[in-house]
Amino acid sequence: MTPDEFRREGHKLIDWIADYRATVGERPVMAQSAPGDIKARLPAHPPEQAESFDVIFRDVDDIIVPGITNWQHPGFFGYFPSNGLFASVLGDYLSTGLGVIGLSWQSSPALSELEEVVVDWMRQMVGLSGAWSGVIQDTASTSTLIALLCARERATSYGLARGGLQAELRALVVYVSAHSHSSVEKAALLAGFGRDNVRKIQHDADFAMQPSVLAAEIALDIAAGRVPCAVVATTGTTTTTALDPIAAIAAIASEHGVWLHVDAAMAGSAMILPECRWMWEGIEGADSIVLNVHKWLGVAFDCSLYYVRDANHLVRVMSTNPSYLQSSVDDKVKNLRDWGIPLGRRFRALKVWFLIREQGVEALQQRLRRDLGNARWLYEQISVARDWRVLAPVILQTVCLRHEPAGLGGEALDRHTLEWVGRVNASGRAYLTPALLDGRWMVRVSIGAEQTGRADVAALWELLQELVEPGVIPASVVL
Ligand SMILES: *Cc1c(COP(=O)(O)O)cnc(C)c1O
Repeated sequence: MTPDEFRREGHKLIDWIADYRATVGERPVMAQSAPGDIKARLPAHPPEQAESFDVIFRDVDDIIVPGITNWQHPGFFGYFPSNGLFASVLGDYLSTGLGVIGLSWQSSPALSELEEVVVDWMRQMVGLSGAWSGVIQDTASTSTLIALLCARERATSYGLARGGLQAELRALVVYVSAHSHSSVEKAALLAGFGRDNVRKIQHDADFAMQPSVLAAEIALDIAAGRVPCAVVATTGTTTTTALDPIAAIAAIASEHGVWLHVDAAMAGSAMILPECRWMWEGIEGADSIVLNVHKWLGVAFDCSLYYVRDANHLVRVMSTNPSYLQSSVDDKVKNLRDWGIPLGRRFRALKVWFLIREQGVEALQQRLRRDLGNARWLYEQISVARDWRVLAPVILQTVCLRHEPAGLGGEALDRHTLEWVGRVNASGRAYLTPALLDGRWMVRVSIGAEQTGRADVAALWELLQELVEPGVIPASVVL
């Protein structure tokens, strides 16, 4: 492809994406594909001869797009909002177009320095003190793994330089909440702690970790000769956006020299609103924090910010220094390969920079406030509606609900819930993800897609009331 051909096809692609975003609300939200549908329409073998972009684009329209669930749809209320605002999409293209890789500062100085700057902008935006420094990782899963590796190495005085975990005489223990994200347990297992040494701390009625139970579990482990190593607390859990009490947990962690990692992957974005910062009160007492700006905030996936208080420790755990990557300025610069696991680094900072500049902090704040208001509005409707119940405090933009008609309970209630949510998703007009809460199915309404306004939330509420009636097929099924 020549630069001129690239220009032509690239313009077409941008036009296509602009049209897609402008009309995404007319498509069914959830993919209407059955397993294997898409593979069946794709050739099993690669083409021997070049194909034209027209043909490739046609297959995008015919095969690919019908097989996606439209996360940018105004009726998307599943999982969590993953907004990729246009400015950030352009930043992502620029990164790809420049085709540079950060291996060391010298391999692309602007890549390292812009990353340092935007990560510090975000630090200020969420109200963290200057004691924190950060870096961009791909996902929260990676950030949490890094946190637990750092915790492990602090507790063992850099055991990795000796016999590693295999030489430790006493077991190291990690404490998580029963409502921690699955990535937390995965990170603990991958970091070598072993399932027997991961404690799930009981939660209270609002699904938040109970500090008194944490303290008791730590005491039991110490008495048994084990070493309490790390606590992972969550600001905004996945199921209900519950808030583990950070200040109380930090006090316990500090008393025992335990690493405190705060998983604010989803709710961290809300900290750009000063009125939300009570939610992670005590955060300055943590050792590390993860915050996914690729969720609600609007940076195109993937972009997870990882902040630490002791950057020297992080670098000591992560650094390698082969001769071919050394340079004469190493003592004056940050080599971001030493701030995480991969050597090669994408220029992700561009999409954060574009977003923050094109929006300004105020517009980002306004959009999040809009979503918080919409969640509150939905909560108000449901809490007074007959047979409907809100199951957890509505703290952020997620409403956990259930339709509980008289006489239905237990497994029959579960069946009813899964049936009506199935009807909603099959309608194509909205997309919701059910989840288990205390062993029973309920439905999460996660508000915050960029295009979702009050009218879309009101339309969802109408749709729910219509489709909880068994056998009802929505009037305007989009297919
Ligand atoms: C989304 C989420 C994660 C996982 O994020 P990835 O970036 O996909 O790894 C972890 N914890 C919480 C609280 C989340 O909301």
